[in-house]
Amino acid sequence: MKLCRFDDDRLGLVQGGEVLDVSAALEVIPAQRWPIAPGDPLIVHLERVAERARALAAGAPRRKLHAVKLKSPVANPTKIVNAPINYQAHIDEAKNDQGIAHGRDMSKGIWDWGLFLKATSALIGPGEEIRLRFPERRNDHEVELAVVIGKRCNHVKMEGALQCIAGYAIGLDMTIRGPELQCFRKSPDTYAVCGPWLVTRDEIPDPNNLDLSLRVNGELRQNSNTRRLVYSVERLIEYASSFYTLYPGDLIFTGTPEGVGPVKPGDVITADIECIGRLEIRVADTYDQ
Ligand code: MN
Repeated sequence: MKLCRFDDDRLGLVQGGEVLDVSAALEVIPAQRWPIAPGDPLIVHLERVAERARALAAGAPRRKLHAVKLKSPVANPTKIVNAPINYQAHIDEAKNDQGIAHGRDMSKGIWDWGLFLKATSALIGPGEEIRLRFPERRNDHEVELAVVIGKRCNHVKMEGALQCIAGYAIGLDMTIRGPELQCFRKSPDTYAVCGPWLVTRDEIPDPNNLDLSLRVNGELRQNSNTRRLVYSVERLIEYASSFYTLYPGDLIFTGTPEGVGPVKPGDVITADIECIGRLEIRVADTYDQ
C-alpha cells in the first residue's frame, strides 16, 4: 500500500497515476491532549488506518497525482536519524574532495562517527520547495533510502529489526558543506525531504537490494543500489536503538551513495528508488533569508 499526505493534510491512497482521497480513515486516530505522547499518530495507528482506507477506496474521490501537492508522508517524527558515511564509494569521493571532507578524517568509519540527527523542523514533502539558506556556500543533494519506524523499540537485535519498520520512502538529505557539525549544516528549514509517499513494509521484502538514483535537471548524478550500504538497514536499526528509543514515525536516512554535488536555485531534482517510485522537487528561485 502506498499512502500519501497531500494538499491541506489529506490522506491519499496512491494507485497508478491517481490519488484516492481516503481522509475519512484518519477518524480512527483518537484525539489527543497535551502532552502529546511521542510518535507520529498516523504511524502509531497505521494498521487501523490502512484497514479503513482499504474499505473506503472503492468509493473514494479520485485526483490526478500530478495535480496534488505532496507533503512528507510522516508529519511528526520525534527524530530524523542519519547515517553519515554509509557507502564506500561516497567515502572514497569525500577523501578526494575537500569540498566534502573539510579536513575531517575520512579514514574513520560509521562505527567511529555514530549517527546524527537532523532537526524535525527541516522536514518537507516534494510538493514544497527547497529554499537554499546560504547562496555563497555549496548546497548538495544526497539521495537516501528513508526507513519509517513502525513501533516503539529499544535495544533491537538485527534479526528482529525489519519487524520494527512501518514502511519506506525516498529521503533527500540536503546538505550545506562546511566545517560545522552535521546536525547544524543539514538542519535548515526544507533540508530534509521525504516522499513522495509511504510504501508499507510488505511491498519491500528486502530493503538491502534496491536501485536508487538521482538526477538534476535530467542529468544523472547518483546511481547505486542499497546492497552497497556499509551498515544494512537492520544494522542501522540495531545501532540507533542501542543509543535511544525509536518511536513510530521516526525516520532513518540510511546514507547516500557517490555522486553528491551542488544544486542552485531553479534546479529540479528527481530521485528514484526501486519499489517506491519517483520523487520530484524544485529548488526555489529565492534564498531563505
Ligand atoms: Mn546523508
